[in-house]
Amino acid sequence: MLKLNDLTVSIDNKEIIKSLNLEVKTGEVHVVMGLNGTGKSTLLKSIASSYECTTSGLTELDGENVSALNTVQRAHKGIFMSFQNPIEIPGVNTIYFIKTALNELREAKGLEPLKAPEFMKLLKEKMAILGMDSDILNRSINVGFSGGEKKRSEVLQMLMLEPKLILLDEIDSGLDIDALKTVTKGINSLKSSERSMIIVTHYSRLLEYIKPDVVHILAEGKIVKSGDISLAIALEEKGYEDVLHS
Ligand code: ADP
Ligand code: MG
Repeated sequence: MLKLNDLTVSIDNKEIIKSLNLEVKTGEVHVVMGLNGTGKSTLLKSIASSYECTTSGLTELDGENVSALNTVQRAHKGIFMSFQNPIEIPGVNTIYFIKTALNELREAKGLEPLKAPEFMKLLKEKMAILGMDSDILNRSINVGFSGGEKKRSEVLQMLMLEPKLILLDEIDSGLDIDALKTVTKGINSLKSSERSMIIVTHYSRLLEYIKPDVVHILAEGKIVKSGDISLAIALEEKGYEDVLHS
C-alpha cells in the first residue's frame, strides 16, 4: 500500500525526518510512537503532502510514485489524514464540509454526487456508530467543539470518505474512556484487508482495542525500533530511555 524510501522531510529548512524507510502492506495497521518533537506529525503530514513540508525521497502508493502529487491529488488517490489539532473554520458548517469533501472525491472517481436523501442516510448511519449528536452538523467545523467532539468529527469524516490509507495523528489524546471506546469502534469498523492505517499515539491503551500489526519507535527522524504491541507496553512501563538502550 505505502512505501517510503529514503524519505527526508524539512520544515523551515530544518531536517526533521532523515532518510526514513517504511513499508506498510495492504490491510496492515502500523503504529508510530516517539517522544514529543521527534517528527511523528511531520511524517504523517509529508505522506499527505502538507504545504509546510519540503520532501525528498520516494513515496509510493499502491505501486505508484506519488512523490510529485499535491495534497488534493493524494486525497483523490485515497489518502486521509486526521490532524493532531484539528483547526477551526468559522463560517463553514460541518455538514456542508463533509458533503463537499465526499462529492469532490466521488467526482474524482467519475461518480455522480450523492443526492441529499442518500447522503443524509449514510451520514446518520455513521453518526450512530460514533454515538454523535446531530446538532454538531450545523455548527462551523470545530468551532467551540470540545476535544472529544473534534476527534469524533475527524472520525466521522473518515467513515464518510472511506479512504484507502488512513493517517491518524493522536486521535486518542484528550479523550475520556467512553469517547476512546467510540472512536476505536469507528476506527475498527474501517479495518479491512483492502485498507491500511498508520496511527500515531502515546498510549498502549488505544492499541489494546485496535490490535496493530506493527509498532515503530521514531527517534531523531528515523525508525529506530519496530515490534509488536508488546513494544508499546514496554515503552509505557519503562520509558523510551530504557527501551531504546536495552
Ligand atoms: P511530534 O509530532 O513527534 O511531536 P512534530 O513532527 O510535530 O513532532 O515536530 C518535529 C519538529 O519539527 C519539532 O522540533 C517542531 O518544533 C518542528 N516543527 C514542526 N512543524 C513546524 C513548523 N510549521 N515550523 C517550524 N518547525 C516545525
Ligand atoms: Mg505530533
